[in-house]
Amino acid sequence: MPQNHGFLCSTSSLFCDTLQAMKQISIDAYLCNGCGTCIEMCPEVFHLDESTGKAALVVPDPDITDEVQQAAAFCPEKCIDLA
Ligand code: SF4
Repeated sequence: MPQNHGFLCSTSSLFCDTLQAMKQISIDAYLCNGCGTCIEMCPEVFHLDESTGKAALVVPDPDITDEVQQAAAFCPEKCIDLA
């Protein structure tokens, strides 16, 4: 289902798909408390960096799936940014 990115998505889902593909994930390691919520919800994208005790990305530039968006929404520290 296309995400709502304002007026562009009211005209064409092609714009939504393009905007979605342009998004990138970043994790604010300072704020991350290592709770593991994102890892439980989306282990193909997030893992625990054993050296820091913080969440990190499995691959550098993963797709922003619905699961990724849900993991970001449930992060208690709100430190997963999808920009
Ligand atoms: S859910 Fe948020 S605080 Fe918890 S490990 Fe993931 S990034 Fe860190």
